Amino acid sequence: MNPIFADTATSVFEVMSRLAIQHKAINLGQGFPDDPGPLDVRQKAAEAVIDGWNQYPPMMGLPELRQAVAQHYQRFHGLSYDPASEIMVTSGATEALAGALMALISPGDEVVLFQPMYDAYLPLVLRAGGVPKFVTLKPPHFRFSAEDLAEAFSPRTKVVLLNNPLNPVATVCPVEDLSMLAHFCMANDAIALCDEVWEHVIFDGVRHIPMASLPGMRERTVKVGSAGKIFSLTGWKVGFVCAHPALMKVLAKAHQYITFTTPPNLQTAVAYGLMKDDSYFTGMRADFQRSRDRLGDGLKTLGFDVLPAAGTYFLNIDITPTGMSDDVTFSRKLVEDFGVATIPVSAFYATEKVTNVVRFCFAKKDSTIDGALERLEKAVRA
Ligand code: PMP
Ligand code: GLN
Repeated sequence: MNPIFADTATSVFEVMSRLAIQHKAINLGQGFPDDPGPLDVRQKAAEAVIDGWNQYPPMMGLPELRQAVAQHYQRFHGLSYDPASEIMVTSGATEALAGALMALISPGDEVVLFQPMYDAYLPLVLRAGGVPKFVTLKPPHFRFSAEDLAEAFSPRTKVVLLNNPLNPVATVCPVEDLSMLAHFCMANDAIALCDEVWEHVIFDGVRHIPMASLPGMRERTVKVGSAGKIFSLTGWKVGFVCAHPALMKVLAKAHQYITFTTPPNLQTAVAYGLMKDDSYFTGMRADFQRSRDRLGDGLKTLGFDVLPAAGTYFLNIDITPTGMSDDVTFSRKLVEDFGVATIPVSAFYATEKVTNVVRFCFAKKDSTIDGALERLEKAVRA
């Protein structure tokens, strides 16, 4: 068996969700909203299942969805992508990332990764034959410096994989840091693989800045998005990739042999959803921001040290003041003894693990958040 998968642990999301079921816990671990997602978008999908095309759609995605992605990114980010040669639909961002890493990396190529990193990145990079070069981000700001980049980049760097906004620690990369990273990409002729699945889930009036919008980066950026996050429909697994035709040609070759296509009915519904009025997107952000503040204020009242959360469904606490220093033990105790599931952030580090940060998902109904806070109060008293 291939050791990269044989020796790898079960994903922390699955582990914590299983523990949540086993202990009848309130699950603030794995990131999925309580909300069922916009009814009109779900209705479109249902209609498309009953009345629409249910055979293989085109390998690159339904033309109407590729067109909608182009219009969407033009409207929100001022980016111009040609739907015919620069946009491809994938089965979730996960497939987009796996395919891109397979397509871009040759064995021995170096790949710059920022840890904490989404759990799929490292096994996929290794399986593609990439040599990881880590940049370690630390609380409370989780930012990188020019020295960090100078150490990680080399003329052998093929890809830098950037997640912005950053899951799990909910930071948004400041534009000056993006510019610095762009400079290193250009100086080393590296491709920026940008996981921007959280681009719409961003708070406090801050605007998402796609890496592809920075001078010189349009041609060397592979931009990855996901309808799962844009419409709170995490199980849908409809992703999109935007890249210059020279890159897209090769990305498409990987996609054609991984999944080839993505369910056409869901594509139809996502095309509809991406064309919704701005008010849907601002309303969605406002709702999540309110939930963030409800959980954040509750945690602060209980005495927890809450870290800032600028985007994503997540907010984090520094557990140091609780007297505990190990996030895994903290999360285990919380789910087993007090019935609240969380995610220990050390799971997202491969080396130099940060062990004092725990992630909570706030994309929940008020009653779920309040129920979790009641249980956490008992934990604090204990
Ligand atoms: N990248 C990041 C940073 C994520 O948080 C997620 C899912 N939460 C994904 C990729 C996967 O997206 P999808 O479900 O569209 O595959
Ligand atoms: N992205 C989700 C999270 O961060 C989980 C996705 C998964 O379960 N693989 O919680």
